[in-house]
Amino acid sequence: MTAEFEVQGIGITEIAERYGTPLYLYDGDELASRVDDLKALLHPRLEFFFSMKSNPNIGVLSVLHSRGARAEVSSMVELVTALRAGVEPADIIFLGPGKSEEELNACLDHGIYAIVCESLGELELIDRLAAERGVRASVALRVNPSFSVKGSGLTMGGKPRQFGMDEQQLFATEGLVARHPNVRFLGVQVYMGTRILSEEAVAENTERIFELADRLAAHLGIPLELVDIGGGLGVAYFDGERDLDLELLAARVNPILAEFADRHPGTRLVMELGRFLTATCGTYVVRVRYVKESMGERFAVADGGTNHHMAAVGIGSFVKRNFPMRVLNRLDEPASESWHVTGPLCTPNDTLGKKIQLPPVRPGDLVGVERSGAYGPTASPVLFLSHGYPAEVLVHGGRAHLVRSRDETEDLLRHQHLPELAATAATAITEGSAS
Ligand SMILES: *Cc1c(COP(=O)(O)O)cnc(C)c1O
Repeated sequence: MTAEFEVQGIGITEIAERYGTPLYLYDGDELASRVDDLKALLHPRLEFFFSMKSNPNIGVLSVLHSRGARAEVSSMVELVTALRAGVEPADIIFLGPGKSEEELNACLDHGIYAIVCESLGELELIDRLAAERGVRASVALRVNPSFSVKGSGLTMGGKPRQFGMDEQQLFATEGLVARHPNVRFLGVQVYMGTRILSEEAVAENTERIFELADRLAAHLGIPLELVDIGGGLGVAYFDGERDLDLELLAARVNPILAEFADRHPGTRLVMELGRFLTATCGTYVVRVRYVKESMGERFAVADGGTNHHMAAVGIGSFVKRNFPMRVLNRLDEPASESWHVTGPLCTPNDTLGKKIQLPPVRPGDLVGVERSGAYGPTASPVLFLSHGYPAEVLVHGGRAHLVRSRDETEDLLRHQHLPELAATAATAITEGSAS
């Protein structure tokens, strides 16, 4: 018998046959345990908000939510998704640098916990919209701190950014609270960067964010109802990276959280997590259509590629580094050959794996890109060559659930409108021949 990849006892061959390929496959048990582990190890006052931009699927959210995760949303559709998944408005925050009036009004109408405000102009608009509705808007100020901490894939602080308000600007401003009578200032949000793989960096961030929050609350003269310490916890993708050690993280961060929590018994302490909650729970599954050789190198051409998994091209680096990949229907065969795994797009960039070690690949094989549950299709050019969104399947409670259907031809063509050129052309010809 050939060993094949299974999720909760369901084999990949069966899943691929039932739902077709390419597809994203999510393990609900793994999703649940990501939240459970954080809750078990980190300080009990810390609340975990799922950053939906990393994976906006309602099925994924509903599993995370069933274990106690709340929702951090950044668009109207994400907001509506969270509400439909049953997340209480009191457990939703809305964040993003370019919120529309429509989105802000929806936040106010649903009474979500906090709008995370990113500029003074937005604050003015929120104040006006709240006044029009006769409500007070609950707002957290996103601060672009003067400091930055090393250790993340993308550093946010200490640089000019479209996100948040500069720390220095906020401290130079007087009367901010008085000028916005329809806003209830809850507190502070700071997001230091993504793909953080250093426990020490998280601890240092947290310490400095708390210090900043205290100082800013004193300057503004507000009680701190909320401190959102961002998050951006990473997972290992590439050679030489290692996963965060949650016990080590807890040992470093919990004393910092405890000290702050004890001094602020009424303050909600929030951590935002996207990648950390979903990345390890998802596999991108493609079927190999052709195998070929070019100038001595082997290519496996599959039915899906970077149109569904842009991150596999390489995250934040100019050198292509491979995500972990396996031939899912033959796990027991040694990875003895070097392969390029490419997709159906007409560009050389459509390479999921470059010179990756795999067993001899055959047409029909199922190749999996692992650790792909975050920033997959949602962050990919799914309409390039008009292939559309792949299917998404969530295995939960030992059963496979189709949580998103793949785009079909008509789904995609519905948005295009054929202009009535034919009549015009015919008229032009008639007129032409009459003269
Ligand atoms: C993208 C983003 C997140 C989630 O980041 P991850 O690295 O996926 O955890 C959280 N907060 C803010 C403000 C973000 O922009």
